[in-house]
Amino acid sequence: MPAFAVEQIADGVFVHQGLQAEADDRNHGDIGNLGFVIGDDCVAVIDTGGSPSVGRALRRAIEVRTSLPVCYVINTHMHPDHIFGNAAFADTGARFVAAAGFTQALAARRTTYLERAERTLGVATNDGWLVMPGDTVVERMRIDLGGRYLALTAWADAHTDNDLTVVDESSRTLFTGDLLFIDRVPAIDASVTGWLDAIESLAQHAADIAHVVPGHGPVGEQLNAMLAPQTRYLKAIRDQVRSAIDEGYGLAYTTAHVARAERDRWLLFDDYHARNVTAAYTELEWQ
Ligand SMILES: [Zn+2]
Repeated sequence: MPAFAVEQIADGVFVHQGLQAEADDRNHGDIGNLGFVIGDDCVAVIDTGGSPSVGRALRRAIEVRTSLPVCYVINTHMHPDHIFGNAAFADTGARFVAAAGFTQALAARRTTYLERAERTLGVATNDGWLVMPGDTVVERMRIDLGGRYLALTAWADAHTDNDLTVVDESSRTLFTGDLLFIDRVPAIDASVTGWLDAIESLAQHAADIAHVVPGHGPVGEQLNAMLAPQTRYLKAIRDQVRSAIDEGYGLAYTTAHVARAERDRWLLFDDYHARNVTAAYTELEWQ
């Protein structure tokens, strides 16, 4: 694995930016953004990477910067690039926290995710890669790291059906999880309309946020400006899929024609766009 870079973006708030690529045997699934926040008593980790080896690199990066224990491992949702590093923290005594829908969603994908990881990462996987949360968030939860609080919010169906965001109250840093993709094309795994609702709700609190850590892509400070390209993309899909359904077009035609103008604006567009249109079509044809 290339050197594991960690940047301090605010006092006690550290971020590792994953590669803007698909998981493979060279990057070990190091493709999502990971973070940790150091309080007076202990450390919270926010997402752990796409394999146990990425999780171990993250753990070493934490141990270089503090001798305080990791007390919480927070997963922003159940996608493999955010959770397969959990195994590296299983013996820390940390509490694992995720949204209420996480366990069921991951259990349903368990075989698919482990088999795909074997294939793409080229390593043997096992059930130890699936660390389920001990604490789940239904709506909100506040976590105390010792003089430092994290506010966790669980969302209705959006990117997935178990999205969770985290705000470090001291530094006003928002970890969006995959409710926000920068540069890499967003992937719709639950609801395009729900995701647009979540974006609107996040945007209402933009003035309270000083630092933004997206699920993929560079960190920034202007939440609304960071949300804009993704909003444009998701609205193009929603609106054009709705029109296609109204006009009686089938899925194949719709997939080939909707939001093609977005193609040059996103990384990995061809890997995800057709699936996004399919997901939106399935969702919207019943409305
Ligand atoms: Zn995701």
